[in-house]
Amino acid sequence: MKIIVRKVCEKMNRVVLVTGGSRGIGAAICRKFIAAGDTVVLNYRNSYQEALKMREELGDKLILVKADVGNRQEVKVMMDFVLTQLKRVDILVNNAGISQIKPFADITDEDWDEMIRVNLTGVYNCTKGVLPYMIHEKRGKVINVSSIWGEVGASCEVSYSAAKAGIIGFTKALAKELALSGIEVNCVAPGIIDTEMNRQFDLEELKEEVPMNQIGTVEDIAEAVFFLASEASNYITGQVLSVNGGMC
Ligand code: NAP
Repeated sequence: MKIIVRKVCEKMNRVVLVTGGSRGIGAAICRKFIAAGDTVVLNYRNSYQEALKMREELGDKLILVKADVGNRQEVKVMMDFVLTQLKRVDILVNNAGISQIKPFADITDEDWDEMIRVNLTGVYNCTKGVLPYMIHEKRGKVINVSSIWGEVGASCEVSYSAAKAGIIGFTKALAKELALSGIEVNCVAPGIIDTEMNRQFDLEELKEEVPMNQIGTVEDIAEAVFFLASEASNYITGQVLSVNGGMC
């Protein structure tokens, strides 16, 4: 009986760090973990007002931390703050990301560098920041948000597709390296989801490309992330969970 009580308490006291949690998919992930009783660190870069609204909505168990995930120094300060104040990070969700739609010929060197810096180096920076703690504890879950375009490639999104494919390679390799350390590393690859990122598109038109003829919701992705963060997924590592209404 005592063991069961301890396990329930442990579950309720998880500390989850969600990058890019101020809106869209990241905000839904924060809501899902808070509803389960977890403490959530919401990382944001620019959207302070949105982050504040999340705090008003979700209360004291949501902690806001500003950092550009692509900036190594800012990530170090964020990780030091979290590990000093909360003493732990049980789950890291690398969700922060930017998109860019441009023909390959129009991509500038600066566009390319920024895409890789935020979408791929950001995953590296945050994972590097929490791993010493997780390795010491011999447990932890890292969940990376890739994309269907990282799996199959998208025309006019070469840099985005390359960064998201990089996340898949990162996930598979790190999962193997950490398989004996009690740490699972997986990724979720969303299809077309209704968020700010897709405001420039006509979603009614886009949904015809989806076998289910539906655009995904932020909650669809949050559910998949939550599953990969749960004990139900303890034997799953190095995998890509594609949440895309049947696109392939
Ligand atoms: P979104 O609504 O544009 O939100 C992006 C989030 O990332 C915002 O919270 C933003 O925060 C944050 N962010 C961007 N750059 C950052 C940086 N340098 N440092 C810290 N935070 C940063 O996009 P979304 O659709 O929710 O996308 C979330 C993730 O899902 C991304 O990785 C995206 O590539 C992936 N994804 C989305 C779709 C889709 O259809 N929507 C499909 C596949 C994959 P600030 O505003 O504070 O900068």
